[in-house]
Amino acid sequence: MSWLRLPPPYLGELVGSVLTRAVIHSGVPAKRLLVEVTGRRCSNLSFFLPSSLSGLAELMSVNAHELLWEHTAFPYVVAFMAPADVDRFATKALGQDLQQGSVASLIQSVTQGLPALRYCPDCVLDDVAELGESYWHRDHCLPATHVCRRHGTRLRLGDFATKIASRAYGMGLPQHQRGRPDFAGPPDPTAKALALGSYELLSRIDGHTADWSTHYRTLALEKGFVMVTGEVASAQLAMNLQVAFGEAYLASLGCSVTEPGRSWPALMVRERVRVPFAPVKHVLMQAFLDGCNVEQKTLAYRPPGKVPRDASSLDEQLAKQVRKAAIRANLRNVQTTITQLMKDTGHWSAFRHDRSNFPKTTAELAAFRATEASERKLGGREGHQRNMARKAAAAKR
Ligand SMILES: [Zn+2]
Repeated sequence: MSWLRLPPPYLGELVGSVLTRAVIHSGVPAKRLLVEVTGRRCSNLSFFLPSSLSGLAELMSVNAHELLWEHTAFPYVVAFMAPADVDRFATKALGQDLQQGSVASLIQSVTQGLPALRYCPDCVLDDVAELGESYWHRDHCLPATHVCRRHGTRLRLGDFATKIASRAYGMGLPQHQRGRPDFAGPPDPTAKALALGSYELLSRIDGHTADWSTHYRTLALEKGFVMVTGEVASAQLAMNLQVAFGEAYLASLGCSVTEPGRSWPALMVRERVRVPFAPVKHVLMQAFLDGCNVEQKTLAYRPPGKVPRDASSLDEQLAKQVRKAAIRANLRNVQTTITQLMKDTGHWSAFRHDRSNFPKTTAELAAFRATEASERKLGGREGHQRNMARKAAAAKR
């Protein structure tokens, strides 16, 4: 492999992106290049934290530790581990150890909740102008990260799924993506807080946060999640967190809150609970608590507090508006779309952001969809076909 050199990584570039650039620069097909650089057939080389890092570092002319800590997801995935575990995993990741099972399992905490690699269109412009090419930024490709830290721009999703590891190397750079908007995630300023929280995990060098449990508990009490006993109102906190982010979004990140009292947010603020939590849960918890107003959140033994009631009363009100608008449209025999109907209520973005908070409204919209006044944007649905058939019949007459 003497002909082969890999380009040195750019600032904050993911190691998989360096290999992608090598594929483009060399013109060698991705599969063959991977065999050349790793010395073996690897159908599943991680874009985020590949095996044989030392060998890759040598070909990229960088220090192996630098490659591990500055160009892989490693600092993110070990951010809340004890120093001894971090060292153990670092040795595994750097070594030529082919039995890499435990490091592979670490990667899941970055790929779960990441449907595709993300990129910032403004960074693409800057990078191409400065460097002549764009690259996959490590801090854009983390769970719960939807905005660019530098530009404040909403990130876009690349054209290939994160899970298909080795094929990713042949899929090009951000500038080559058709891309699509990423509608997931909360609006600003929460989205910015999440992006910053995730980024901060990348920039830690010791990889260990001492006693985070006490930190969250103190913060939760400060924000008013207090029971009459003085304990943290953990179930209440879990419910409020769920309302703040929305059920569907949390589920997409693998962070569902099912039974509030026994859910992960409740466990995170409980004393003497030392189970590990995925980094994204820490990021969500910190952003949620930082964004909370300081106020008494609950009285002991009282069912759901202020926020959930507000969400459901808005749902109630929207459902009524939708029902009326649907009846009007049907009476006047005008066609409209669900999007238009919801835009008319003035709450389209809240609804679109998380439909799971609006069960009654969703039910009304489904009922409306079955009526003649519902105009379908996509062909093939029954109503559209009925309309087409009617028009065709009218034309024949
Ligand atoms: Zn950017």
